[in-house]
Amino acid sequence: MRIDVISIFPEYFAPLDVSLMGKARAKGILDVRLHQLREWAHDVHKTVDDTPYGGGPGMVMKPEIWGAAIDDVIGEGSPRLVVPTPSGRPFTQAVALEYAAEPWLLFAPARYEGIDSRVMIEYGARLRLDEVSIGDYVLAGGEAAVLVMIEAVARLLPGVLGNAVSAVDDSFAPGAMENLLEGPVFTKPPVWRGHEVPEVLLSGHHGKIARWRRDEALRRTLRKRPELIERGELSPADLRAIESFRADGDPVAD
Ligand code: SAM
Repeated sequence: MRIDVISIFPEYFAPLDVSLMGKARAKGILDVRLHQLREWAHDVHKTVDDTPYGGGPGMVMKPEIWGAAIDDVIGEGSPRLVVPTPSGRPFTQAVALEYAAEPWLLFAPARYEGIDSRVMIEYGARLRLDEVSIGDYVLAGGEAAVLVMIEAVARLLPGVLGNAVSAVDDSFAPGAMENLLEGPVFTKPPVWRGHEVPEVLLSGHHGKIARWRRDEALRRTLRKRPELIERGELSPADLRAIESFRADGDPVAD
């Protein structure tokens, strides 16, 4: 997958050299190209922002600089353009999967009060453009949001995770885990500071272990994010598990 990022802080993306992302780049699975937006600014100060029309605090990023940068980076091509903004569509695992199926993404992280809105009108008519939010809070700039999105997308690309099955069992993974959080996980030793690993995990009984994991995912989701669960999508075994949590006095949501 090719990923271009245009930013006034390309150095912000150094973490993409580390761990899974670094290996994916070394293997050629991920082709990340970073561009310094200021290279498209032609005044002596390489200015990329100006005061907002209508007044008010802060600065707005200039449309002609973003326009020249995006035009040069895309050439005749048509990547999916992703513009991080708190007012965008929420970024979720489903969106990460959607992006993982794209051959080419172009990210346009802003600083200051954001990019002149005409840039989104212009490229919304020419490219598939998404304005995307990584959560209901405000960052100082879009670079951290882009790092989050690249990492969530790239780990879904074939060959990036050592064990491709791990993504299938993740919280929010499409299929059986779509609306569930992953339950607790354990490793050796079997007893640590008096805390024992649940016995079923030591039993070697795959069917029972799978059912226990499913039950714990249900239990955790009901406790922490009950709004995720659509009762209509649960199997009879899931519903029986929820009834048994209640019977045991577990304070799971109704
Ligand atoms: N005044 C803007 C508003 O209230 O929507 C916030 C601008 S913020 C200081 C600067 C940039 O950080 C945004 O243009 C966007 O690129 C990025 N950003 C901030 N919070 C974000 C979020 N929750 N999700 C995605 N990008 C975000």
